[in-house]
Amino acid sequence: PRLANQIAAGEVVERPASVVKELLENALDAGATQISVEVEQGGVRLIRVRDNGAGISQADLPLALSRHATSKITAVEDLEAIGSLGFRGEALAAISSVSRLTLTSNDGAEASGWQVMAEGRDMAPVVSPAAHPQGTTVEMRDLFFNTPARRRFLRTEKTEFNHLEEVFRRIALSEFDTAFRLMHNQKVVHQLPIAQEHAARSQRVGRLCGVAFMEQSVPVDIEHAGLRLHGWVGLPTFSRAQADLQHFYVNGRVIRDKVVNHAVRQAYRDVMYHGRHAAYVLFLELDPALVDVNVHPTKHEVRFREQRMVHDFLFRSLHRAVAELRP
Ligand code: ADP
Ligand code: MG
Repeated sequence: PRLANQIAAGEVVERPASVVKELLENALDAGATQISVEVEQGGVRLIRVRDNGAGISQADLPLALSRHATSKITAVEDLEAIGSLGFRGEALAAISSVSRLTLTSNDGAEASGWQVMAEGRDMAPVVSPAAHPQGTTVEMRDLFFNTPARRRFLRTEKTEFNHLEEVFRRIALSEFDTAFRLMHNQKVVHQLPIAQEHAARSQRVGRLCGVAFMEQSVPVDIEHAGLRLHGWVGLPTFSRAQADLQHFYVNGRVIRDKVVNHAVRQAYRDVMYHGRHAAYVLFLELDPALVDVNVHPTKHEVRFREQRMVHDFLFRSLHRAVAELRP
């Protein structure tokens, strides 16, 4: 089973950023309203994610580390209505097969909590008591310590941290009702309080995407025929990578999609200069029955039932917003 885990780990765990993605999604699935992420050396040496969510019971702790142990699907029909972000039940198993992992949790049933450890080996995890407030802390150390070939693919600390911060940014932009904190090598990089009002939400977007983006963008909020598009549309920028300032969410989920990209590109056509990239943080909300989410673990694809309608709605809404942008 360990070999299978390491194969799965290759798909799920490519670098520290992929670990942070899985741990943040778990924390959100657990209903956390406060999540703190502490990392050292770009996340290779340490990733510690602490949340105040539902927690894991003593009995379920060892199961959480075993492959295909998910608490998130109870019936086959659930597969068609996946609301939670994770549903494969293999992320923790995969991460623990290539690192030293400690899982500490308290589900609120008792005053204290419980802990399990795994260290890249096939070892029945032992549950021991540990102090922890309600919620969960996952601590991952020494990523790829037992798979040197994979470790050689890691880039510099700075590059790995940039990837990790990008994952953090995308997730923090998707959940304004949760407070987030990111620390790197003991320094606070982002401290984001819960942001319910528009002003607070703008502030979070400014902190994550930069003041320049906020100052040169216009807010959007348009509703039509059951579709709602809201967020911020900014001036095209010379960003490092095209995806840097392009955040598009469908029903709270980060996605990349051809229909969306095409509508955005068309809307920006008149203001686009060579070498520049559109910059936006946008949220599309629609009836979940009108969109299929691809269940592949690492892709973020959707298929709209009414592609034409969605495309035209996006194009019209964005074209209007882009026209308001003043260079
Ligand atoms: P999945 O998220 O696909 O179910 P994971 O391997 O990521 O699989 O997690 C396994 C299980 O461990 C989850 O189904 C959940 O029950 C539990 N779990 C993991 N992280 C947390 C957390 N932060 N809070 C509460 N439960 C968690
Ligand atoms: Mg998960």
